[in-house]
Amino acid sequence: MITYRISEIGHCPKQLSLSTAKIDGKVPSWLQNSADEGKWHEKRIKDEMRKAGYIIEDVDVCPICLERLGEERNGLHVEITVNKPNEKESYMLIGHTDGKATHPEYTKGKTYGLEVKSMSQFEFDRWMKTDGKFKEFPSYAWQVSTYQHLTNEIPYIYVVKNRNIGGKDRFVIEKPIVSWTEIDEKMSRLTSWMNNNSEPYPAEFDADSIECRRCKYALRCVPEPKILEPVEKEKLDLAVSNYHKSQELEKESEKLRTEADNIFIQHCRATMENKWRYSGLSISFNENSSRAYYSKEGLMTVLNEEQLKTVTRYSEPKPVVRITQLKDK
Ligand code: SF4
Ligand SMILES: [Zn+2]
Repeated sequence: MITYRISEIGHCPKQLSLSTAKIDGKVPSWLQNSADEGKWHEKRIKDEMRKAGYIIEDVDVCPICLERLGEERNGLHVEITVNKPNEKESYMLIGHTDGKATHPEYTKGKTYGLEVKSMSQFEFDRWMKTDGKFKEFPSYAWQVSTYQHLTNEIPYIYVVKNRNIGGKDRFVIEKPIVSWTEIDEKMSRLTSWMNNNSEPYPAEFDADSIECRRCKYALRCVPEPKILEPVEKEKLDLAVSNYHKSQELEKESEKLRTEADNIFIQHCRATMENKWRYSGLSISFNENSSRAYYSKEGLMTVLNEEQLKTVTRYSEPKPVVRITQLKDK
């Protein structure tokens, strides 16, 4: 029977079919390091919660998976076998929750589930950007909702930590965000596909999707140009080489500009002069400069869609090519 990892079921069905069939994509090294760092932060968060009076039930290595599969997986084991009248749609889900938490005051002595995530500053900003936090991270919603469906719909304490500055977002999810009907429908459809086809589930790389840009199977998803004449190939190779060169120059340019800025700032501070001219350049310095920006979500709280359209300005349309580096960086 096809078995899926609950932490993955919110992914695009093609990615899920490839990972479930254990076809190795290239896992970017930063993603692996990030997972290891995540474990470290999870332990710290639990220690802090214990100090705050929570009783936390967790395990480091799941004894069931160790015995059954010989694999070291972390967390409390949950699983379900979903049998369908059509056997080819039957599937199994296995996952590991980060634990259970009980507090005399905050959970009124009841046992809640616990899910802990830690993120870089960039990811944390993305997390905090929207009110419905999971909008930017739908696969997290699928994961925790499935845990809830498999654990009698107990509330879940959800903790998200900013790895850079340590800030946290902690809240309780009372009811599953994704319904069991939606989860079951996706999983049985995918299982049926996998049992009836040797190809992965059909889907194509989308350069606007952050999931695609980070996907370890992206290389399999972008179609290659079919037949190339030698002269076309030569031109494309030149374009690739120019692209890489432009990336390097961009980095170098940023570095040089930062170095120049730092020297000018030091000089402004030392001389207490904020506006001066030197060697054909005019230098203006503001110690507390900040720019106003308006998020679409924020504007939507005071304007409706129609009002927003009347104040939206579009730049002249022009051809744009989006280039994404697919190989491990
Ligand atoms: S690149 Fe995009 S479409 Fe392809 S498997 Fe990954 S997430 Fe799915
Ligand atoms: Zn297990």
